[in-house]
Amino acid sequence: RRAAVVEAAYRPAITVDGHRVEVAANIGAVPEAGRTVEAGGEAVGLLRTEFLFQDRTDPPGEDEQFEAYKSMAEALGGLPLIVRTLDAGGDKPLPYISMAHEDNPFLGQRGIRLSFAMPDLFRSQLRAILRAASHGEIKIMFPMITSVHEFRRARRLVEEIRVELDAPEIDVGIMVEVPSSAVLADMLAREVDFFSIGTNDLTQYTLAMDRGNPALAKDADGLHPAVLRMVDQTVRAAHGEGKWVGVCGNLAADPAAAAILIGLDVDELSVGIPNIPGLKAQIRDMAYEDAKDLARRALMCEAADEVRALTAEVA
Ligand code: PEP
Ligand code: MG
Repeated sequence: RRAAVVEAAYRPAITVDGHRVEVAANIGAVPEAGRTVEAGGEAVGLLRTEFLFQDRTDPPGEDEQFEAYKSMAEALGGLPLIVRTLDAGGDKPLPYISMAHEDNPFLGQRGIRLSFAMPDLFRSQLRAILRAASHGEIKIMFPMITSVHEFRRARRLVEEIRVELDAPEIDVGIMVEVPSSAVLADMLAREVDFFSIGTNDLTQYTLAMDRGNPALAKDADGLHPAVLRMVDQTVRAAHGEGKWVGVCGNLAADPAAAAILIGLDVDELSVGIPNIPGLKAQIRDMAYEDAKDLARRALMCEAADEVRALTAEVA
């Protein structure tokens, strides 16, 4: 009986009408790679590498990072591991980086901007990732990309280091979590290998509502039609160029939202490990045709609560 349960966990998640959706994990610690596999995760859709950099007085060296990425890639046994480069910044300060005070840290030097400002740190992280890439199926993802130029600059650096190390070719993608990248998704789609939509930040920046402010929590809803239209536009742009799109923001773990995201044709949903079995069960129980219909109607709603009412009606 246990064997049957385990076997079910590993099976892909396919809707009743035959549409497959990849279910991946968001992780932020070395042991979680093995747990992803046990929970039936088909990939790590987002490795938040901040855990290697926080709560210490000096940055991790290249070798220390290499060991961590390598052991996670190995624990995944060939399943993809998307390593997001450091997404530190004003709101997640690091004691060994001296940063000027920022009045608006969420609009400050965070994500890829900070990596560009700290070239030695960025290089050592990319070297560690590229070295680990020969031990598994690793992809690189950049946070907070706002323009094609930024992506090209980051990708050039990856290529330069790859040649230096004589490492294998590797997929390079971006988080779509700033409105500018969703708006320019058609241009970015020509250059990236994949997109992963970060609905936490995309919602915050689209609605101009701090994602951590409890007074705004009810209104800062990723089901706001403006956010859903950006998701829709991003997916269409990616598919037009034959690229795949995931969603790794918290919205993917909300069952009402998951149905809409699937209806919008997202290829992968990446959620916390405890959410994996439930999400797979939900997908196996639903019809893709119904999800598409739901998504079409959601895009025409005027507000997030209207979208929520729609999903309640369907469920
Ligand atoms: C996001 O912004 O949706 C995301 C997944 O990244 P983080 O929560 O780490 O900012
Ligand atoms: Mg983010």
